[in-house]
Amino acid sequence: MNITLNNGIVMPALGLGVFQSAPEETSAAVAAALAAGYRHIDTAAAYGNEREVGEGIRRAGLDRSELFLETKVWVSDYGYEPTLHAWEKATRKLGVDYLDLLILHQPAPDGFEKTIAAYKALETLLAEGRVRAIGVSNFMPHHLEQLLAATDVVPAVNQVELHPYFTQPDVQSANAASDILTQAWSPIGGITFYPGWGDDRQNVMADSTLAAIARTHGKSPAQLMLRWHLQQGRSAIPKSTNPVRIAENIDIFDFELSAAELASIDALNTGKRSGPDPDMPRPEFFAKAIPEA
Ligand code: NAP
Repeated sequence: MNITLNNGIVMPALGLGVFQSAPEETSAAVAAALAAGYRHIDTAAAYGNEREVGEGIRRAGLDRSELFLETKVWVSDYGYEPTLHAWEKATRKLGVDYLDLLILHQPAPDGFEKTIAAYKALETLLAEGRVRAIGVSNFMPHHLEQLLAATDVVPAVNQVELHPYFTQPDVQSANAASDILTQAWSPIGGITFYPGWGDDRQNVMADSTLAAIARTHGKSPAQLMLRWHLQQGRSAIPKSTNPVRIAENIDIFDFELSAAELASIDALNTGKRSGPDPDMPRPEFFAKAIPEA
């Protein structure tokens, strides 16, 4: 299933995520995903595995034009010149000469002027044909408002935490109002069960409502959540390094959820994020340097 972005570029709605995929597992996961029919990969400079993503792509032997490659600029590379250079680093590591989608990984809460300068670099890269679409991630409506007021190109995508326990209706509405595609990170709720992210989280993968609906379709809770995203017009980028689960996560095109089922899933929203608050300053984390290619 494809989605046409606000600048006319066509993007496969479902992609493979590679956050926390160990470098040594990443190439195999990307190759397995491409063999299973994925044509969209979501990585980031900060994941430290762009090189291995590139290796997986080459291993699959597909033509570059058949792939949709998305990556993210890390905050330590924000600013006009640093962000232009971040494109050089990313493309060299990935082994490609253009990107399909380049997004800013976070709004920098303590340096929004740098965030704007970084976005202006994305606009330049877009104008020069070095990226086919540009966007943002973890932007709340107030960040979008500031960005739109200061820049020319409306982001094609805003990638945010989004799973049945945290659906961010305000962000989805703000995105839709500007024709920005909402792309779900942790689309099957990884952030609700990854170890080490806090003890007060509820694991969405173990939800009984999801299990019951999934059972009626002969599908897994992960497949149900992914189908829910796609039927509601979102892009989703589930992460797995397990070939069986990679294949399972794309096997979602042979069933359909009713309006009542979609509404039951929407009703699970707790309004409570499991991941970090985008407005929380995390200077040391944001300062993490991205190595040269
Ligand atoms: P996720 O995709 O919701 O969940 C991944 C977790 O679910 C992993 O532990 C994976 O383990 C497991 N899993 C995968 N398929 C499964 C299945 N069918 N059944 C049961 N378990 C399954 O979480 P995420 O990695 O946080 O988010 C996905 C992608 O979004 C990331 O990889 C990254 O590309 C992006 N992301 C972006 C941001 C941002 O700030 N922009 C933040 C977080 C994530 P196995 O690998 O063992 O299968």
